[in-house]
Amino acid sequence: MTLIAIVNCGSSSIKFRALDLDTRENVVDALVEGIGDSIGAGTGKLRLRFPANPEVADIDIAEPVSDTAHGMEMLFRETLATGVLERHGGLACVGHRVVHGGEDFTEPTLITDAVLEAIRRLIPLAPLHNPGNIEGIRAAMEVAPGIPQVAVFDTAFHQTIPPHAYRYALPNVLYEDHKVRRFGFHGTSHGYVSRTAAAYLGIPVEDFNAIVLHLGNGASVTAIRGGQSVDTSMGLTPLEGLMMGTRSGDIDPALPLFLERNRGLSVEDYDTMLNRESGLKGICGDNDMRAIEERMEAGDESAKLAFDMFAYRARKYLGAYMAVLGRVDAVVFTAGIGENSPAVREAICSGLDPLGITLDAGRNAGRGGPKEISTAGSRTKVLVIPTEEELEIAVQAQHCIEQAGA
Ligand code: ADP
Repeated sequence: MTLIAIVNCGSSSIKFRALDLDTRENVVDALVEGIGDSIGAGTGKLRLRFPANPEVADIDIAEPVSDTAHGMEMLFRETLATGVLERHGGLACVGHRVVHGGEDFTEPTLITDAVLEAIRRLIPLAPLHNPGNIEGIRAAMEVAPGIPQVAVFDTAFHQTIPPHAYRYALPNVLYEDHKVRRFGFHGTSHGYVSRTAAAYLGIPVEDFNAIVLHLGNGASVTAIRGGQSVDTSMGLTPLEGLMMGTRSGDIDPALPLFLERNRGLSVEDYDTMLNRESGLKGICGDNDMRAIEERMEAGDESAKLAFDMFAYRARKYLGAYMAVLGRVDAVVFTAGIGENSPAVREAICSGLDPLGITLDAGRNAGRGGPKEISTAGSRTKVLVIPTEEELEIAVQAQHCIEQAGA
């Protein structure tokens, strides 16, 4: 029994899971919501489920949660009282999802005061995410003293990208003083999915060239050469690249100037517009691909435009990364849309036979994976590989503490 907790802490929520790595059982599934929500008592919520132990009753508590430390304390108190953690051998370590590791972190790292300080110094690069991640780490250290804590960074997998791909064509001083460069995100997913795809095809990972399309609410594409990330569509922030659920993806960099001159937009307005009101939602009012496909089938023009734009953008990146890589063993689809939408996969890959990509309509039909969806003769294989970000964080955290002898 090796029980690993995975913590994904945002500014107002804590997602917590405990996985038994040996049996792959989901032992605790917990969510704390409404942290710091002082308007109206009872908006805070704790939800605890114990899928591996059906005899233990679900726990639902609605009461104000003042801050992350309070939420974490409630979560641990209630979980410990059920005795499920001991029944599975007790927690071996806690793996924290940390969004931005900058240039400092290229792999999962055992958390010390110095590491926490380095994550704090990276806040200007991820002002919406790193502060919540830091609070989650502090709170977990407080309630589970003596249990090793590991930071697993969304950016780490992309630290192999070479300078000619990660630098922006901007004055040097911006890189030197502020580390303005491409970092890339979804790294845990791209790493896991590319290794799983290589194993699925029986190709040694160090020889594996692939293009991974992580298409969820957030979406990014990565070019993988020899098992390593050599380019990715997200940049300094997760806003760059593909069209997403509510994020714009690539736009003309002169747009902020235009909007400031013509609409008097403030920095905050602009931030909200690009992150929350754009993408699929901006074009058709919906950010859920299932709803968009249903509307499209019913003849809705704006849903069709949103769908076509989404697929077209992904197709452009696919073509660009084919040129980056030269030889591509596999195109791999993952995440909510990538795993479940045959229509999106078809729209991205159709007509690419001259480039060596031929989908098999029968294999492409239906949801889920892992599966191969290209024809037997397709030079580049097309795969669907479900992403398992939490499992991967647990595996990496465990590996990290073994290496560190913690
Ligand atoms: P994230 O983790 O980034 O929030 P997910 O990876 O869960 O996002 O993906 C969410 C997206 O997947 C939504 O747009 C949702 O509509 C889409 N999705 C899920 N199931 C289907 C399906 N059967 N057909 C089309 N899209 C789907």
